[in-house]
Amino acid sequence: MLQKHSVRIDRRICVGCTNCIKCCPTEAIRVQRGRAKILEERCIDCGECLRSCPHHAMVAVTTPVGELDLFPYNIVIPCTSLYSQFKTLATSDQLNEALYGLGFDFIYEEARGAEIEAEALRILLRSGEANFPVLSCNCPVIPRLVTKLYHNLIDNLSPFVSATEISARVAKEEFSQMMQVDKKEIGCYYIAPCAARMTNIKNPMGIKHSDVDGVFSMRELYLRIKESLAQNAARRKDKGGLPDTRDGKVAFPAGAYGVGTAVVGGLSAAVGTEHYLAVDGIYNTVQCLEEIDNERLRKLLLVEASACNGGCVGGPLLFENQFVAKNRNRRFANSLPRYDLEHDEHVRKYVDSPMIRYDMPFAPQWVMTLSDDVGEAMRMMDKMEGIVRSLPGIDCGSCGSPSCRTLAEDIVRGQAVEMDCIFKLRDKLRILAQEMADLASAEKRG
Ligand code: SF4
Ligand code: SF4
Repeated sequence: MLQKHSVRIDRRICVGCTNCIKCCPTEAIRVQRGRAKILEERCIDCGECLRSCPHHAMVAVTTPVGELDLFPYNIVIPCTSLYSQFKTLATSDQLNEALYGLGFDFIYEEARGAEIEAEALRILLRSGEANFPVLSCNCPVIPRLVTKLYHNLIDNLSPFVSATEISARVAKEEFSQMMQVDKKEIGCYYIAPCAARMTNIKNPMGIKHSDVDGVFSMRELYLRIKESLAQNAARRKDKGGLPDTRDGKVAFPAGAYGVGTAVVGGLSAAVGTEHYLAVDGIYNTVQCLEEIDNERLRKLLLVEASACNGGCVGGPLLFENQFVAKNRNRRFANSLPRYDLEHDEHVRKYVDSPMIRYDMPFAPQWVMTLSDDVGEAMRMMDKMEGIVRSLPGIDCGSCGSPSCRTLAEDIVRGQAVEMDCIFKLRDKLRILAQEMADLASAEKRG
């Protein structure tokens, strides 16, 4: 079966320890026959399981580095958090020079795409023509979480694609115009802090197809970029220490607002609204969405949620500690100009364009329904409640399901049996042992 998600389990490494099953916010992981498995329909690609497996059996699926011969031209989109990963990095030009050195023909910073998104959001909020609060889709996990678990909030999802997708679309457009080449000849690669972007390529949501053709893990590229930075620095030193980074110039450099979006709250700052909620971490995000769903958080215009702690600087594929990265990102962003996005020519060119919008409406996904037949679903629900009452209710996870309720659900779905519960098994064995003892003493008595 074609894997639609960006996280998979290496079954050769998994030891079935069950550490991962409790971390999943959508209860998508089960351990059966001594190995973990992901229920694909429930997975939202948040990457929590990547962090939780002590055996590194959870693997992020990304594009192999080196796959740059599929297209005649290659564009790279450095993620907004890339600048925070290198201690010695002083300017964007230095980083871009290193990226050109890896063989890319054109660089478009995701931070620039984030500035276009921020301005589009600012105009939308000002128009008042939206379902408030607008939920930013910058983190790719958010639309997946909402369409699976918060159907009432689907209409609140931002009409604008993520900064990554905006960047890919704009980069291809600009490069094809500049070089007079067909867009089909251009490959676009993203250097990612998380694997969730990969899912958008395999399984796009709200768009017909993604303009990102490949996703490189930041971890895999880290050493190459670091080496390239060091070589360039040594070369400059040989030339008398001149700050010669002419080779690192890009056509549309990003400013402080764009780079600042790597840290949660940065997008809201770029939008310039005070009526926002910036929330990080998948569990905090779930809690806030619950509250919005229950209409407890009113008067908000914008919700900027990030599945990773701290924002993209906390992505599981990054190299640097998220707190160090956060600090560095702030300092780096503050060294850049703060563009007036409203009057910025490049931003204005795209801010009203359909290119930065989703192509189609989001559809709800019914991952929690027991059956398409209402009567059957009711019967299954009754049976499930009966099983829940018969289970110990301590959610120990020894059965391989994250809680007693999910085990009951798995049982009514035919994917588990009551004896998977070790307490049920123990009781059954006790009864069997008693029956055997009774039988033996009956035989003795003749
Ligand atoms: S945490 Fe999950 S994936 Fe990792 S070894 Fe344990 S059961 Fe397997
Ligand atoms: S990526 Fe997130 S939703 Fe998917 S299985 Fe892992 S923890 Fe669960």
